Amino acid sequence: MERISIANPVFKGNEKKYLTECIDTGWVSANGRFVKEFQSEFAKFCGTDYAIACSNGTVTLHLALIALGIKPGDEVIMPTLTYIATANAVKMVGGTPVFVDSDPDTWNVDPAKIEAAITPRTKAIIPVHLYGLSCDMTAIMDISRKYNIPVVEDAAEAHGAMWDGKRVGSMGAIGSFSFFGNKIITCGEGGMVTTNDEELYNTMKLYHSQGVDPKQKRYWHMVAGYNYRMTNMQAAIGLGQLEDIDWHIGERRRVSASYNSKFQDMLDGYVTVQKVANPENHVYWMNCIELTDKVKKERDQVMAEMEQKNIEMRPLFYPMHVMPPYEDKSASFPIAEKIGARGICLPTHAGMDEEKIEYVVKSLQEIICE
Ligand SMILES: *Cc1c(COP(=O)(O)O)cnc(C)c1O
Repeated sequence: MERISIANPVFKGNEKKYLTECIDTGWVSANGRFVKEFQSEFAKFCGTDYAIACSNGTVTLHLALIALGIKPGDEVIMPTLTYIATANAVKMVGGTPVFVDSDPDTWNVDPAKIEAAITPRTKAIIPVHLYGLSCDMTAIMDISRKYNIPVVEDAAEAHGAMWDGKRVGSMGAIGSFSFFGNKIITCGEGGMVTTNDEELYNTMKLYHSQGVDPKQKRYWHMVAGYNYRMTNMQAAIGLGQLEDIDWHIGERRRVSASYNSKFQDMLDGYVTVQKVANPENHVYWMNCIELTDKVKKERDQVMAEMEQKNIEMRPLFYPMHVMPPYEDKSASFPIAEKIGARGICLPTHAGMDEEKIEYVVKSLQEIICE
């Protein structure tokens, strides 16, 4: 079997045509039609009034926290089980990330634990729609309203996932997305912030392009901002991808349904997966498994043996509180620690055929079932 990679972007639409237009016309930097179209189409897709295209998904989180006025001494509540960019963005504004544990069924941040972690210094909450599964946004927005604390949705892995009929990124004060090469849709590197709040939009717009206010004269800067702009070339690819996003999500759901039925047939009792309340909630950035106690091997051993069968695997994210930048030896988040130690991400991409899915699950069966 040829090597099965963990992720694999698929460009089946207008990406190349649009990119060629950038080169042919010379519109390669941030001033070009694709940036504007990508922004307005993405906002439409999410159901928000505004969207700003940025250079990557980490800086979109940074902009969101700037717009919310997070400063040194402020606390921002987030899951310990996430990708490190979520925590790093809080560091970028000098804030303090406050970690909370996960829900054992969904692996997403547990709303009750968010509420328990609130202090007078809490200035924002960042739920992360982990691996493509929407958090319980009803519970989280109830907490947001009750304590008047704004929510930034880290939707970097979950473009198109829905909660109660609404797209992720449209429910909190701000939504944040990534278009890195392995995400639901990609433009190489890229990000997008979404919001319905005109004031937050204006602040993020200002900081994302060196503090220039388009209503003022040229080269007149209102604040010390950043260059977080997306190029027209990135947006050309992104717009092409966005035009096909329903296909991309449909493909991921097909792959996931196939994995799940094979897990039932071949790995019953040996693995568990994220529990999904409603099919609209999950877009399956990655199909992940947690090895149950029935599996006697260590997780890393299982991954090494899969690697020998030419299948690329990823460990689940390590919780933030166990890694050097955020290490807290006094903290205990047993659920995130267990998922982080026993979890594996399986190859998941649009266009992945049945033969490959079958080979991955059969290989797992040989390795973990005794
Ligand atoms: C990918 C990702 C980001 C950051 O995106 P980049 O585009 O890589 O900067 C942020 N948060 C989460 C949860 C992610 O998975």
